[in-house]
Amino acid sequence: MMKYVLALDEGTTSARAVLFDAECRAVAMAQREFTQIYPRAGWVEHDAVEIYAKQCSAMTECVAKSGVSPSDIAAVGITNQRETTVVWDRRTGEPVCNAIVWQCRRTADICDRLVAEGLSGYVSEKTGLRIDAYFSGTKLKWILDNVPGARARAERGELLFGTVDCWLLWKLTGGVHATDRTNASRTMLYDISADRWDDGLLKALGVPAAMLPEVRSSGEVYGYTDVMGVRLPVCGIAGDQQSALFGQGCFEPGEAKNTYGTGCFLLANTGETRPDVKNGLIVTAAATEKGAPKQFAIEGSVFVGGAAIQWLRDELRVIERSADSEKLALSVPDNGGAYLVPAFVGLGAPYWDMRARGALFGITRGTDGAALCRAALESIAYQTDDLIRVMREAGLPLTCLKADGGASQNRFLMQFQADISDLEVLLPPSPEATALGAALLAGLAAGVWRDRAEIKEKLVGGTRYSPLMSAEERARLLDGWKRAVAACRAFDGN
Ligand code: ADP
Repeated sequence: MMKYVLALDEGTTSARAVLFDAECRAVAMAQREFTQIYPRAGWVEHDAVEIYAKQCSAMTECVAKSGVSPSDIAAVGITNQRETTVVWDRRTGEPVCNAIVWQCRRTADICDRLVAEGLSGYVSEKTGLRIDAYFSGTKLKWILDNVPGARARAERGELLFGTVDCWLLWKLTGGVHATDRTNASRTMLYDISADRWDDGLLKALGVPAAMLPEVRSSGEVYGYTDVMGVRLPVCGIAGDQQSALFGQGCFEPGEAKNTYGTGCFLLANTGETRPDVKNGLIVTAAATEKGAPKQFAIEGSVFVGGAAIQWLRDELRVIERSADSEKLALSVPDNGGAYLVPAFVGLGAPYWDMRARGALFGITRGTDGAALCRAALESIAYQTDDLIRVMREAGLPLTCLKADGGASQNRFLMQFQADISDLEVLLPPSPEATALGAALLAGLAAGVWRDRAEIKEKLVGGTRYSPLMSAEERARLLDGWKRAVAACRAFDGN
């Protein structure tokens, strides 16, 4: 009998459900957007109750429209926006406040204090992360410090903490309080080498251990849920980026994926040894199923990726749709010497320059919308290449780059990435890498697939971009990018 796996893909703006068949093909999908709450400048919240409701209705619609009987579904997997923090009452299930979203900067001051107290080295040694408001730990501290009564209730064991996977699991299973290693590794509270919550960090942030979930592998039975009257195991969990790494079949050291979305997230599998990283990269847990050796990944991000194309579309009105950028960029033979450094919100790794702002260099009277569009697309590839370069310098030569996310549909961008990074770029046959990762983890635990080798066989196909650019041309272009970044940073006095 054909077996299906249902993935719940809970993102930053929408809750999706995708049903996969045993050949890893997506057979149905449903999606519900949810409310983005911006109480103040720089603050971002979600209503966890709304997320759960939207996730359930997406799930029901997906299964209903697939025509597949729920009894033919073998397993449910969850992948989620990472770091977003939920605290709720163990008895009533009521969240004590809105979820604080990964993008929210409200705890930047707490982070500055932790840095001033000299905790940076300790945090990176234990967690693999840099101290930043992005991660859950300081968001949890903020809730305990600011929601009336929260700390006392947490100390009495009445409140639970979880990232969104954990919240959904608790709701779906009627009270299983667990998360997986990939999500735990984004809290800034978890020791990724010893695989346990770190007492020193719990103390530094004043977090009672009683509110923390149990941490498990990314593929095992956590509990059971009801899908349209049928009891199904929930048996795969991974944070969105680690899920995409798994869904792209990056199981071996050196295999990497880049998600070209609003921003870009580059993750490379480093195998069983925890890498020693510098230059602003971070180390994180890779998704591994129960019984498999635990793996690590190295991660770097680009703040403005596809967002540069949105800027051309919405602010400059050079294009009408993002997809039009491909044709426009290809209408000119080269960038004509123009470089865009889209440091709209600062620059990430390897620069970590929060004060830098965007700049355009090398323009002439002849620089038109097409040249600008080309420079914008190229900037996505250059920024990705900066990450690839520091990964190479950290002793991790990438063997190939697997691409996903909205902007990976741009053929000009993919070819330019292959050219500038001198690396094969592969696009998977299915664009649903993130949801597929959770489905694969759940399906492995439920026995839909025997092992990773069987999965690998199913992930073949897709589009391959091979480097065609000469070494001289590559060096010339990269030199221009390097000078553009340096000049951009010099403007802001850095
Ligand atoms: P997210 O998950 O971050 O919302 P998506 O993976 O849906 O992002 O990708 C959307 C981003 O990709 C947008 O910034 C959009 O401008 C960009 N994008 C989408 N299609 C293309 C394309 N064909 N060429 C270039 N950029 C694109």
